[in-house]
This record gives sequence, C-alpha cells and structure tokens, in this order.
Amino acid sequence: MIHLQNADVTTVKGIGKETAVQLADMGIRSIQDLLYYLPYRYDDMRLRDLAEVHHDERVTIEGKVHSEPSLVFYGKNKNRLTIRLLVDQYLIRAVFFNRSYLKGKLAPNDVITVSGKWDKHRQTITCSDIILGPHRHVTQFLPVYPAKGQITVKALRRYIKEALEKYGSGVEEILPKAVRDRYKLVPIRDALQFIHFPESEEEMKQARRRFVYEEFLLFQLKMQVLRKLRREKLQGIGQNYNLKQLKQFISTLPFSLTNAQKKAVNEICADLKSPYRMNRLLQGDVGSGKTVVAAIALYASYTAGFQGALMVPTEILAEQHMESLHQLFAGADLSLELLTSSVKGKARQEILERLQSGEIDILVGTHALIQDEVNFSNLGLVITDEQHRFGVEQRRVLKEKGENPDVLFMTATPIPRTLAITVFGEMDVSVIDEMPAGRKPVETYWAKHEMLDRVLSLMEKELKKGRQAYVICPLIEESEKLDVQNAIDVYNLLANHFQGRFRTGLMHGRLPPSEKEEVMKAFSENKIEVLVSTTVVEVGVNVPNATFMLIYDAERFGLSQLHQLRGRVGRGSGQSYCILLADPKNEVGKERMKIMTETNDGFVLSERDLELRGPGDFFGKKQSGLPEFRVADMVHDYKVLEIARMDAMHFIEMDEFWHDEEYAPLRRYLEESGAMSGEKLD
Ligand code: ADP
Ligand code: MG
Repeated sequence: MIHLQNADVTTVKGIGKETAVQLADMGIRSIQDLLYYLPYRYDDMRLRDLAEVHHDERVTIEGKVHSEPSLVFYGKNKNRLTIRLLVDQYLIRAVFFNRSYLKGKLAPNDVITVSGKWDKHRQTITCSDIILGPHRHVTQFLPVYPAKGQITVKALRRYIKEALEKYGSGVEEILPKAVRDRYKLVPIRDALQFIHFPESEEEMKQARRRFVYEEFLLFQLKMQVLRKLRREKLQGIGQNYNLKQLKQFISTLPFSLTNAQKKAVNEICADLKSPYRMNRLLQGDVGSGKTVVAAIALYASYTAGFQGALMVPTEILAEQHMESLHQLFAGADLSLELLTSSVKGKARQEILERLQSGEIDILVGTHALIQDEVNFSNLGLVITDEQHRFGVEQRRVLKEKGENPDVLFMTATPIPRTLAITVFGEMDVSVIDEMPAGRKPVETYWAKHEMLDRVLSLMEKELKKGRQAYVICPLIEESEKLDVQNAIDVYNLLANHFQGRFRTGLMHGRLPPSEKEEVMKAFSENKIEVLVSTTVVEVGVNVPNATFMLIYDAERFGLSQLHQLRGRVGRGSGQSYCILLADPKNEVGKERMKIMTETNDGFVLSERDLELRGPGDFFGKKQSGLPEFRVADMVHDYKVLEIARMDAMHFIEMDEFWHDEEYAPLRRYLEESGAMSGEKLD
C-alpha cells in the first residue's frame, strides 16, 4: 500500500508537473492533502418549483424542449442560443451565450436539465450548465472548493474524484474504532466520499459530524499533551512560601475574601509551590476583586524569597494598581516600586539597580518592565492584568533572561468557554464567579440621542447627591474617519451645560501622561464631578463614588467592552446607573443594547457577544490567536468541542493510548505536529 502522505499528486491521472506546482501553491502536495482539500459549500442542483424561486436566484430545472432552439449571432464572434422550455405546465426561456454548438444537439421533445440564474420578470434562465438528459442523471450537490490561479473548481472536482476512486480506500483511519462506534461516526473512507460528493443531505451531515469531531480531537490532544509535558518537565520553580505569614497577611485585609477568591488563591498557591511552571488564567468579572488575589499571590512569592512583577497595559492602570497595592500592603514590610516610561533619569537608574540587587520585592508597571535593561535578581512570579494574551515574544524575553517565573494572567473579559478551551486550552483556569457582598447591580437603560436632555437631568440628580459621573465617548482617533462626536465636543457641551454648578474634566489618549494623571487624580479626589473620557478608563479604574455613566454612541462598542466600561460604576455601596445613548441602525445593534439593559452577568454577555460577532472579532483582529478549523465552527459546534476535550484529556492518561496499535495514527499525528517534543512550549 502506498503512503498517501508521501505520494506525490502527480500520481493522480490528469495532474502533470505544471499543475502540481500550482497545487503546491495551494498547500496540496500529497494525495492525502488533495483528499483533505475539503469543499466549503455545495452548489445545490436539486430541482425546485420555479414559483418559489426568487428573482436572481440560482436554480436547476428539468424541462422539455418545446420548439426548435433559435440561434442569434451578434457583435464580433458572439451568439445567443434561446431554448423555449416546457417546465411543468409553464413555458419559459433558457438562454446560453456563446454555446452555439448546443443547437445541433437539441431537438423538440428532448428532456434536458439546465441550471443558472432565474430572471423572474422575463421568465428566463441565463444558463451556466446543461445536462442533455433528465435530472436523475445529475449530481445533486456539486462541491465548491477554494480555487486559485489556473486551478478551477471544476478541475479540482475532477482531480479529487479521480484520487478518491483510486486511492480512497488507502486513507489511514485516524479515529479508533471504539470512538467511532461510541459517537456513530462514519469511517474516513465514507466521510471523504460523503464530504466531496454527497448524494443526500444526510451524507453531508454524517461527513461533517465526523470531521468536526476529528478536528477538535486532534487540536485538543495537542493542547492536552503540551499541558501534560509542561507539568512533567518540572521546569519552573517550587516556591516554598510561608503559610503562617501569608495567613497573617490575609487577616490584615480590610474585608474577608469571597469563597470564589479563596478558591482562586488556593489554586494559585498550589501552583506556586509545585515545581512546574504556573501558566494560569484568572477570570473574574469587573469588580469581582482580582487585585487582592494578585496581591496575595505576590505576597506568597515574597515570603518564599522571590521577586514579583505586575504588568498592565497602560500607565494609568499601573498607577492605580500601585495605589491599591500600597493600601493592601500597608502593614507588610516589603518594598514596592512603580516603573513606567515616565520614570526617567536618576530615579529610573536607581530602581533598576535596586531591582537587580534584589532590594525591590515587587515591581508594578507596563510591559516595558520585563524588557531591555530591566533585570531582576530572582523573579518568581509575573502577573499580567487585562492582557488577553501574554505574547509569545514576552515569554521569549523572559526565557532569554534566564527567568522561568510562574505566570498568572488576569482578565476581566469573561471569555466564553468555547474560546477559553481553544485559545487557552493549554492553560489552567481559575474563575471568580462571585461578587463581594453588598454590591447592587448597575441599572442600565438605553436612550436615543433625542432624549439627551432627560438623560442630563437624571445625571444632575445624581450629582446633586454628591455623586460623580463618567461620560464615555468613542475613540478620538477614529472620530475623524467615522465622523463620531468626539470627546472634545462632548466635553464642551457638558462643561457649558453644567457651568457654575459642577466641574467637568476631559481625558483622552492624546493628553500627555502628566495631564492624564492630574485629571484622574482630580476625579478620584472628587475635585471633578463629571469626567468626559474616551475608552482609556475602560480597564481597572476605581472611583467608588462615581455612580453614573453615560456612554455616547454605545452601538459602536462590543458588548464585552460596554460591560467593561459599565464596570467602572457600581463599585461602591450606592445604586449606580448606566445610560447607553444610541441610535442603532440595524437589528443586531438594537439587540445588543437590549441585552445590555437585561443582564449584568459578564459571562452571559460574552457568550452573546461571541454569537453576534463571531470568534474572529471577539478578541480583536490582532490578538486573536485563534486556531483555524476547516470544517468545525467553534461557536456552533461547541458541544462537540467539549466532548473532544474530555476525550483528549482522558486519552493521554490511558496506557492503551501510548501503546495500542489502535491509537498509533493519533500518536503519529502528535509526533508530526511537534507537540510531543514540546516544541510549542515557549
Ligand atoms: P477587578 O476584579 O475588577 O480588578 P478589583 O480588584 O478592582 O476588581 O476590586 C473591586 C473593588 O472591590 C475594590 O474596591 C476592592 O477593594 C473590593 N473588594 C475586593 N474583594 C472584596 C471582598 N472580598 N469584599 C469586599 N470588597 C472587595
Ligand atoms: Mg482589575
């Protein structure tokens, strides 16, 4: 038997050297590649009742030639063949362009099948295909493949058909029989036949079911093997923290931890102690109290004699975290420093030196903090906040510096489970799914722009109670292009509106850092009552006295982002409000506004966001890091994803998996994908 992975495509009849080069360009080198080049849709060639077909829709019909076809020549070398066809009781026209040779093949009373575009008004089909015979001779579903260059869809159909007939039975079955039996999945030979050339919708469905599972299983196996390897390699540091000291520290906190926080702390501490490198994601809705969990982890690491770093995406957030940690560590005897790009000259030099000598215990800052000239004496724990993905690049930097710290990623964007187990499949996950007691859910309303006056008087009512308000505007950088009302306009409007009664401040990304800091400080000290801002306040900012938020052009934001923004209010004990000012143009937009008013649960919102925007947009284009599946769809097939994940976890723990013949193809796959050598382990 030939090995299809190694068999060159030129072995297939009709594929010459030149074609092979072009196929290689499409990623098709072996016969195996060709067979796995799957269609992304089908042309449906089934007969339909013309009365139900819309104007301009594609359709296939069977009809009887009514009279001698007429052929008209026009222009230069152009011709049009018109056939009058009797379909059921109706007489319609079928038109072909530049296919004059058909005339001689057609005679009245012949039954033919044609497909093309239906012009409802002219009762005419402009045809692209014809079969000189009744419809029962027609393939009902024609596969459509991504074509490229000179390789047409039709050519691909031919090559694949040929390859399937000749070599289809030689394709290796990668799924063990027991698994196929359990889920009633068709064998690979049938699955390929069905997916390329289905004879019914049922066959399509069976093929799809099998490939969805196969894709997810292979992907999850890779993930789980990587996870297992990471644990076995023991390449991290065992941090022997002082439990007594840690408990003492926790007892000094101004509140008692929620059960969810306690659980997260325990999971993290177990990772710190263990000799493998922690690679953990801490998810918790806005306001669920992640900072204190981070503080406890940093403290534990400190008692074990290690340094810690807390990295955040913006300077403002770094400063805020610094302040929170200062308060939390008030009674602890450790040295805490802030390093951002605004720390310059002598002050910076001093920090760098003290860091290298081990004098500094905890460093807070932006990502710059693990780069270049920054050297730790013994870094044990890195925590990143609000960073969806801690880049491969940053991990490489750490590694090159000889640091192999435990890593904890914190995010307030609840990640839908299906994404969490694909994008973060190789990570461990802790979830804080409980809010500190006494929080009142933010009341959210949707208002149209024409209701601004009423919204402002609502806002004024809150301000009169001594509360503060945020007013959020879409990004100022985008306003030029998108013609949105920018923060400056809104600021002018509101400063004017509240003049003499309340103070208004302006905050946006283009302000120099010192000014940003000043504004933020003024707001948190209640020297400004109304803060007009772009989304720079999205992450982390904490001003509990702010109980009112107005979001301009709310339809421009994704649900997760709106939820993040809304999380800036409702942080104290007072009732908070969030008003979405929006005139959404379409149904999806309206739906999004409605969902926001209906739930405060970040997980519910993230699932809806994923449904409405799709996985690609969920994280934003750049950082998506999403795997690409050929058949499977992470959102719609999530149940299969869960099953495949459980199976993968189970498999790699079974002896049979590593020894039995039945699993050999899966083992080979893992070997070839590089997972086994741990190549992908940063
Ligand atoms: P986030 O998870 O959004 O980062 P924070 O860590 O900023 O949330 O916490 C939000 C607020 O809740 C802070 O003011 C914090 O002091 C407070 N907090 C955190 N944990 C508790 C708790 N267990 N009980 C009461 N308040 C808490
Ligand atoms: Mg936070």
